[in-house]
Amino acid sequence: MGAIVIVGAGQAAVAAAFRLRRQGYEGAITMVGDETAPPYQRPPLSKKYLTGEQPEEKLYLRQPDLYEKENIDMRLGVRAEAIDRAAKELVLAGGEALAYDKLLLTTGSRPRLLPESVGGGFENLYAFRTLEDANALMAIMQAGQNLLVVGGGYIGLEMAAVARKLGLNVTVVEMADRILQRVAAAETSAYFRELHAGHGVAVKEGVALAGFTGAGGRAKQAALSDGSNVDMDLAVIGIGIVANDELAAEAGLDVAGGVVVDENARTADPDIFAAGDCAVFPLAGGTVRLESVHNAIAQAEHAADVICDAATGPYAPTPWFWSDQYDVKLQIAGWNLGYDSIRVRPGEKAGGQSVWYFKGPKLLAVDAMNDVKAYMLGKRWLEAGQSPDAEVVADPSVALKDMAVS
Ligand code: FAD
Ligand code: NAP
Repeated sequence: MGAIVIVGAGQAAVAAAFRLRRQGYEGAITMVGDETAPPYQRPPLSKKYLTGEQPEEKLYLRQPDLYEKENIDMRLGVRAEAIDRAAKELVLAGGEALAYDKLLLTTGSRPRLLPESVGGGFENLYAFRTLEDANALMAIMQAGQNLLVVGGGYIGLEMAAVARKLGLNVTVVEMADRILQRVAAAETSAYFRELHAGHGVAVKEGVALAGFTGAGGRAKQAALSDGSNVDMDLAVIGIGIVANDELAAEAGLDVAGGVVVDENARTADPDIFAAGDCAVFPLAGGTVRLESVHNAIAQAEHAADVICDAATGPYAPTPWFWSDQYDVKLQIAGWNLGYDSIRVRPGEKAGGQSVWYFKGPKLLAVDAMNDVKAYMLGKRWLEAGQSPDAEVVADPSVALKDMAVS
């Protein structure tokens, strides 16, 4: 096989490149990424990196010299601008063209921005995705400042927790009826609402941002849809992401909120694959984009296996996610889409709790808050394709160990 070119140099790209080598592929691998830092993990950015507890080198996915050792040609700080499918070339900024035999798109996603009419012209509104974004925030965040967080999703809530640790006053504004609405049931939202309120965060749900007022290019106050105003020194905007699917779209490939691929991570062009945040793929009877480290790695490795003719079946993951906020670890196993009932179970340790999602008798997912045993058990049931009895799950007198998968 000829050259393999990977666009993007993030979580999925690195997983694919090393998997290709592990599968015995000895040909050329080129990775093109538009960021300048060596490939790094994003999760710590909104957790221990921002608090200063984790240095930059500990973010790196691999030691930088390993790429050379594995003969992976790393082009950092370079943007891929077009795919010439007829010539099978990837065109880079500056005009260089890289010939490929197989092309893997791992271009990730970018933060959704506020409309220009709302956020335009203010320099103290921050999106949060990259190491550069984190460094910009670290340089200015100080105890006593008023931080407005727009969006009560993962970014917003993790930022709120970190900012409280750093001594800032925090208000979270969530447009939907409740925080974490997109990913979790009302019971999980309630758990995190209480957690944040207990740490002094003002959580405003069902409230939209109407606009900002300020002076000298800096927003000083946010006006909210409930008629209230919030004083602010800075705002972090965490209102979701947009998949980086333009390269694919401009090359005539299908996009639908991401690059459309099949269960082999392959687009309609047999030589072009996509994985990670930028890809949408069939799962559990629907089409999903999974925005997680686990999916970025697993789908990219699957693409590498397919390229090497080593895949043993279709890509059908049991998704898992995690989030750290204060001293709470949230672990989610499965995908709760389409659930029609839930069961809540207190954890064995104080403050622990799990929320189990069912569709009829079928277990779909488990959210576990400081309850690693519930998470592990739920994941095992899901991976076995079996379901515990919902009423037994809801009964705290039955120990988790007595609910083990047979
Ligand atoms: P990315 O890691 O985003 O990599 C894509 C790369 O491609 C980027 O560097 C991008 O700049 C580059 N690129 C895009 N277009 C081009 C182009 N045309 N040319 C060259 N390069 C290009 N997930 C979890 O599971 N748990 C967590 O706790 C968690 N925490 C997170 C915290 C933060 C702050 C953020 C931002 C995300 C977090 N996530 C978490 C999500 C997780 O990081 C992403 O799902 C994962 O990084 C996706 O990997 P990827 O390789 O698809 O994309
Ligand atoms: P997200 O999880 O999609 O949450 C964004 C939230 O903002 C949603 O609840 C959304 O509500 C709300 N929102 C949208 N527009 C708004 C507005 N104008 N005003 C107020 N609220 C608004 O995305 P995110 O938190 O921005 O995270 C970005 C990416 O990083 C995601 O891919 C996420 O998975 C990833 N990430 C993951 C983790 C983790 O897994 N621990 C941690 C950090 C980041 P609607 O749903 O109603 O639109």
